[in-house]
Amino acid sequence: MKWGCRTLVGYDRHGLGYTRQGRGNNVPNTIILPKLGIEYGICLGERSVPDIEGFWKAFETTLKLCEKGLLERFAIMAKQSPKAAPFMYQNNTIQDARKCKKNVYEALKHNTLAIGYIGIAEMCQALFGKNHAEDKEVHKFALSVVKRINEFATEASERNDLNFSCYATPAENLCRTALKALREQYGVIKNVTSHDYLTNSHHVPVWEKVSIKQKLDIEAPFCKYPTGGNITYIELDSTFVKNTKAVEDIIDYAFNTLDIPYLAFNFPIDSCLDCGYQGEFNDKCPECGSKNIQQLRRVTGYLSTDYRNFNDGKRKEVEERVKHSRYINAE
Ligand SMILES: [Zn+2]
Repeated sequence: MKWGCRTLVGYDRHGLGYTRQGRGNNVPNTIILPKLGIEYGICLGERSVPDIEGFWKAFETTLKLCEKGLLERFAIMAKQSPKAAPFMYQNNTIQDARKCKKNVYEALKHNTLAIGYIGIAEMCQALFGKNHAEDKEVHKFALSVVKRINEFATEASERNDLNFSCYATPAENLCRTALKALREQYGVIKNVTSHDYLTNSHHVPVWEKVSIKQKLDIEAPFCKYPTGGNITYIELDSTFVKNTKAVEDIIDYAFNTLDIPYLAFNFPIDSCLDCGYQGEFNDKCPECGSKNIQQLRRVTGYLSTDYRNFNDGKRKEVEERVKHSRYINAE
């Protein structure tokens, strides 16, 4: 079960509505969208226009497989005895714990089953030769894919009398493992499998030089579909955060104008463990030259004491991030 971070538990059809206490996400399954993009797109040079009909057909099959997988795992979880986690069930820390005698179905039915997605950007690149940050029509298509996951989650909830959700997966490890699998099968394809990670959910690729406003405008329309949670990141220079008025303006624009549910600012905090100097470093302290430094970054969800402890995919992603505060609006 996963609690907190970007994950939302969403609406409970078994009477608890939007109550969040004592509920969680049972299990996520994530659709690796770039695979479908490669299979039906133009990136392999097999066709000059994408096979959109083929894409949607395969996408529906994938959604059904995802539902099946989630149900199988849910059945295994729900069969467990409450004795498997006595703390949760004896102390009623999970909803309806006391109703669970032989198994834990009565508690777990309030939780969600998440249909996640990764790599909208690489899917678009593979299909059309450009991503959703580069072209309005491509953006529209990308949006229709996430909208369909949302609709399918509603249909699956009805079909199975359980809470399915659409989920902008954090993919701490999957961003790398999925990339590796795609590279093995299809080789290195520029901006599809050429970076060492897949782009998070519907995010603008970290390498795209877009302004703060552009980043927010592109991602905001996606945010209403992932009922299982999503997050919007803005990358800032370490000096930018001292401009509180500008930071306030971004917050107002994101929340009031665009209705973005969850916004996060990322800015580097590097510390020298020898002299105590703080700022943004490359590989050594600019003050005393020491290499005994700590590089604090928000890699995904939480702050990490040192981002270099992450897997090489995530590490590369952090290193390739552009600072949105360095670009002004192109409009
Ligand atoms: Zn130093």
